[in-house]
This record gives sequence, structure tokens and C-alpha cells, in this order.
Amino acid sequence: MVGAGAAGLYAALCAAREGATVVLISATPLAQTASYWAQGGLAAALAADDSFELHLADTERAGRALVRRSAAEILVREAPACVHDLQALGVRFDGDRSGRLALGLEGGHSVRRVVHAGGSATGRRVVRQLSALVAAEPRIAVFEGARARALWRSEDHCRGLICDDGRIILVARAVVLGTGGAAALWARTTNPPGSQGIGLLLAHAAGAALADLELLQFHPTAVIGLAGREGFLVTEAIRGEGATLHDGNGERFVDELAPRDEVSRAIQLRLQETGQRSVGLDMRAIDPAHFPNVVASLREAGLDPMRELIPVAPAAHYMMGGIVADLHARCTLPRLYAVGESSCTGLHGANRLASNSLSECFVFARRAVLDALSEPMPASAPARLQEIEALHTLSSPPPATAQTRDALWRDAGIVRSAEGLHRLLDDPHPLAQLLARGALERAESRGAHQRLDHPERDPALDRHHFVLAGDGSGSWQRWV
Ligand SMILES: Cc1cc2nc3c(=O)[nH]c(=O)nc-3n(C[C@H](O)[C@H](O)[C@H](O)COP(=O)(O)OP(=O)(O)OC[C@H]3O[C@@H](n4cnc5c(N)ncnc54)[C@H](O)[C@@H]3O)c2cc1C
Repeated sequence: MVGAGAAGLYAALCAAREGATVVLISATPLAQTASYWAQGGLAAALAADDSFELHLADTERAGRALVRRSAAEILVREAPACVHDLQALGVRFDGDRSGRLALGLEGGHSVRRVVHAGGSATGRRVVRQLSALVAAEPRIAVFEGARARALWRSEDHCRGLICDDGRIILVARAVVLGTGGAAALWARTTNPPGSQGIGLLLAHAAGAALADLELLQFHPTAVIGLAGREGFLVTEAIRGEGATLHDGNGERFVDELAPRDEVSRAIQLRLQETGQRSVGLDMRAIDPAHFPNVVASLREAGLDPMRELIPVAPAAHYMMGGIVADLHARCTLPRLYAVGESSCTGLHGANRLASNSLSECFVFARRAVLDALSEPMPASAPARLQEIEALHTLSSPPPATAQTRDALWRDAGIVRSAEGLHRLLDDPHPLAQLLARGALERAESRGAHQRLDHPERDPALDRHHFVLAGDGSGSWQRWV
């Protein structure tokens, strides 16, 4: 298991529960995962006025005719059971006065559907509980601070992986990647610095296909211009409770609960028109007790959200694209699995519905494990690195430089054009180049991918995903 975010931790626990021996490696400490930073919660159709059909319809509407329905159906049907399983594992979600789960409302959801913990401290609460269980589980060995450098592929399947400088060689019946997203490649981001898509490069170097690389979601409300809190996310759940957005003249200019692509674009446009750097989020009428960590963080930075508007602007937030994964999280390279944000099942389409990603982490981690356990046990481990016949080393890209991050923000930001994307093809970072190629393939505007030179959605591309083949040919295919 690679990665100790929500997806990796839960996958490890599910596997141990089935009697498997698990090795979990994680490059960064817990508090540096996107999962730990998650605020709003997990979407699951649990309310009396909700249904799988409604959750599916909202997911598809937000996804702009690009959602892979079979994957979304699985998500909405299996998310409630995952919530109950997390409760059984000791996660304490917030309740209402009658003891039922309290459900939050977020953009794009037609009913209250978001399960949360500690108000807006959901990720922290969930990850802490899961990691405590992982630490106490004798079947799981944890290597914290270890970094996967290459996948070991032979006989056309994945046999294991190599960590650090070869100090650790793991042979496994399956490798599950839960390495997170890539939004920290952009200069303005809500993500921890480690979210740079290394898992995508590892998988691709070993022969796995990648898809939808052009689809990166921008979150509308990240703090800007507040020392020490640049990019700090102010959860959408706050808008769900009534917080409003205002331009420099104090005017509201967008439906705050529209899907994220719409709200981000409206803010971007208003900023262009007014020449200002931020719009104001007014949460003065919100009960601060419901969002204690957001309020505390802003107050620490010297801003009192109960008295003044919060300066916000969009920031890179979530990678809809990733390693191609089927409904059991299987990659195109046998015995390799991808779960959580590193994966691309197509379920988010061109614009993820808020709080569907934590649910995805749990639903597909469980599926990956159940499938992986049917793989045969591996042959014995090689004694030395040299014995690995086909080591697919990744020429380990260093963390993206400030130049690459600025270039992605400028050339692959909320609005892109062929000119900027062509410039990005020369960027030294390999993933920046692949993202640019994906964005050039999609010659239209849809969801999070807006092309100045192709401003309309092309109906011929509905349900079409651009897939970078894993065979090393560098060719792109369209999958429906
Ligand atoms: C501020 C913020 C708020 C969010 N709020 C919500 C929300 O309310 N609801 C929701 O559904 N989603 C939310 N999201 C999105 C969601 O948190 C993420 O999509 C999800 O947590 C990703 O989980 P993951 O397990 O896939 O990856 P992560 O949590 O990012 O974990 C990745 C793991 O992989 C490890 N790793 C990476 N590369 C390597 C390597 N080479 N070797 C070893 N280990 C490696 C890292 O060390 C880390 O342990 C939010 C995201 C952010 C940033």
C-alpha cells in the first residue's frame, strides 16, 4: 500500500481485516496529507429526503456530461455503508439534536448529504482514528518517511516496488497506490506541498495508462493575501450554511451554491473586471461553533470572520484525472491498483461534486482490496536490487520548482489557450508536460477545463475521456 491518506489507511485496514499482511509506506507525515486537511466531509445519501438516484443525478450534473455512470453508481450506492463502517471503526461523526447524523449542504448538492466530524475538522478526525487503528494492527507494517521510487514490473504485471534508494524492496501480490493528487503543482493551491502527482508518474513509467489529465478543479474560496494562510481553504459547507460572496462594491454576483467550476469562473471574471485580487466571503451570520478550525485559523492570522469579510479567490484543489482505474480500482497494468485522488475511474467527470472524493477513497479502497486478495501469492523476493530484471526506474522528478508552479498557474489555470499550453510542453517537469498535452487534446470548454480558443462545449466529446496509453508510445486515445 503506498500512501497513508484516507484511501491508503482504509485500504490497509480492509486488507488486514481480511487476514492479509500489509506493508504501508508513506512519504509524508499524516498532517501533510490532503485527507488530513479535508474540511467539509463525505457525501452519502443518508437523509430521508435523499436517494441514490438523487446523489447520482447531482454527481452527473456537476460532472458536465463526462461522468462515468457505472463508477458513480457504485459510489452513491456504497458510500452509506462506508460511513457506517467508519462509525464501527470508531470515527465519531457529528450528530444532530435527535442523535442522527448531522448532514451538511454543499455546492451542487440538491439536499443535505455531507457527513462531517468536529464541524470542519472531518479529515483530521477520520485520519487520526484510522491511523491509530493501523498502528495497533499487527498485520500492518508501516514505513513512515519511505518514498516509492519505482514500481517493479515483470511478466507484464506489477510484482512490487522499490523505495528510497533501493533500501526497501517490496514484493507483493498486489500494489495499491493511494498517492493523492497533483494540485500542488500549481502556484496557488489548497493542497499540501507533497500533492505533486508522483504516483501518476510511477504508474505510467511502469506501463499504466493515465486519463483526464486536463481536468483539475479550482476551489472557489481559498484565502488570499493573509500572511501565513495563503491558499487556506474555506470550506464550501460554510456557503451551504448561508455565507455569501461579494465583489469590491459589496454586490453578490453568483449563486454561491452552484457547482465549483461555475463559482470559480464567476469569481475569476469578476476579479478580471474589477482588477482586484480577491472577493469577500461574508460568514458573519454563521455560527462559529460549527466551523471551529476555520474560525480559529483565520483569527490566528489576524482576521476575525465574525466581524469582517474573508478575502478569497480560486486555487488549484483537486485532480479529477489520474491513473486509469476500473470499477475494482484495477489499473491497466495487472496487479496494480489505484485508489483515492491518484486514480481516475471517471466518476467525477469534468467537475467533482463537493465531498464525493473522501467517499470515493473509502468505496474504491475497499473494492481494490477485495479484488487484490484474489491475486496469487508472489514468488520469493529478490535478494538484491540487481536481480530485478525489469526495473522501471523513475528518474525521480524533484519537487516542482517555483517556475513550473507559476507556469502551470499561468498556462493551465482556470482559463487556458493553445498558446500557453504549447509553452508548457517545454516545461522541465514531466507531469506538467503531460497535463499540457491532455489539455491540448481536449479542444473544447467543459467543467474545470476552459479554453479561451475553444469556448464552447463540444457535444461530440460528451462521455469521451482522453487516455495516455501506458505502452510508452506517448499516444493518446479517446475512451467512451
Ligand atoms: C484543504 C482541502 C480540503 C478538502 N476537503 C474535502 C472534503 O471536505 N471532502 C472531500 O470529499 N474531499 C475534500 N478534499 C479532497 C480530499 O481531501 C482528497 O481528495 C483526498 O483526501 C485524497 O486522499 P488520498 O488518500 O487519495 O491522498 P492523500 O490524502 O493526499 O494522501 C497521499 C499519501 O500518499 C503518500 N505518497 C505520495 N507519493 C508517495 C510516494 N512516492 N511514496 C510514498 N508515499 C507517497 C503521501 O505521503 C500521503 O501519505 C479536500 C482537499 C483539501 C486539500
